Amino acid sequence: MDYAIDFPKTPVLPVAESNKTFPVGRIYCVGRNYAEHAREMGHDPDREPPFFFMKPADAIVQNNATIPYPQVTKDLHHEIEMIVAIGKGGADIPVEKALDHVFGYGVGLDMTRRDIQGEAKKMGRPWEMGKAFDNSAPCTALNPAAMIGHPAKGAIWVKVNGEVKQKGDLADMIWNVPEMISYLSKLITLQPGDVIMSGTPAGVGPVKRGDKLEGHVDGVGDLTVTYAK
Ligand code: MN
Repeated sequence: MDYAIDFPKTPVLPVAESNKTFPVGRIYCVGRNYAEHAREMGHDPDREPPFFFMKPADAIVQNNATIPYPQVTKDLHHEIEMIVAIGKGGADIPVEKALDHVFGYGVGLDMTRRDIQGEAKKMGRPWEMGKAFDNSAPCTALNPAAMIGHPAKGAIWVKVNGEVKQKGDLADMIWNVPEMISYLSKLITLQPGDVIMSGTPAGVGPVKRGDKLEGHVDGVGDLTVTYAK
């Protein structure tokens, strides 16, 4: 059987030190996942369950790209995040088995049209038009967990035009990687190719035409993108 239209291209991410690519299925993003202050040791009964929103896979932008400035927004924001790429699917995954489902890690940006997201929040409407727009998910090549392990601490930061704007530590995630995988897999069945954007530390702020963004996660990689003038 022929397809009625050309088959849409599956977005892929390069795999570091390999000639293979990773096909991206769905992108799940964790909302508000870093505490402002150092996380207290031990159980925190007051933490709220994590929540998730999505971006389409074709929002992926490759490392070192120049990105057209997005439509309609007057307040584009950067959110630097560690990317978790799922290699093995599953539902109801227990926390202690969750890392077995990870293929690898990357550095990404959850680019956000903050003005449009803000309007949606105010009106109790969905966030998609603030989050799930063209080119809203720049990401580096993936580093396989088999190569780098499972980063649980280390600096995460982003610079805009050479100036550090967001800085945090992976250890400050409210829901760590095994917990977010386990939680998400109770809401939906994870599939190989799914990607999780794991949340952003404090310091989000505006991005203008011509700005250069450089993001970093210790032991994971470096991402550079530039917005067209
Ligand atoms: Mn985010």
